[in-house]
Amino acid sequence: MHALRDDFFEEGKRLDADPETRHEADCWLCHGRIDYTVPAATTPDSHTLDHAKDVDTYPELQEDPDNFRHCHFNCNSSRGKRAPNDQGLGEQMPAWW
Ligand SMILES: [Zn+2]
Repeated sequence: MHALRDDFFEEGKRLDADPETRHEADCWLCHGRIDYTVPAATTPDSHTLDHAKDVDTYPELQEDPDNFRHCHFNCNSSRGKRAPNDQGLGEQMPAWW
C-alpha cells in the first residue's frame, strides 16, 4: 500500500507541474491546489490519498487506483469519519482516583 501511495503522490506531482493537467491534481474535495513541494501528509495543504468509495464499505477497493483521489491533508482529515482510533487514549481513570 505504501508504494501505491508514493506512486499516486508522484503522479499528482507530475500532473501539477503541467498547467494543462494541473486541475487533475487538485484536491477532489475543495478543488484547491495541493502543495506537492512538501512530503505527503506533513502540512494542511500537503497531499494525501483519499478513497472516493469509503474503504469501510468497499474494502476491496482499498488498493484500487481507480478509487484513489488526490486530497489535501486537511480536507481528508476533516472528512475523517473512518479515521482509525486504535491508538486509543487508553482506559479513562475514574475522576476520583
Ligand atoms: Zn482540499
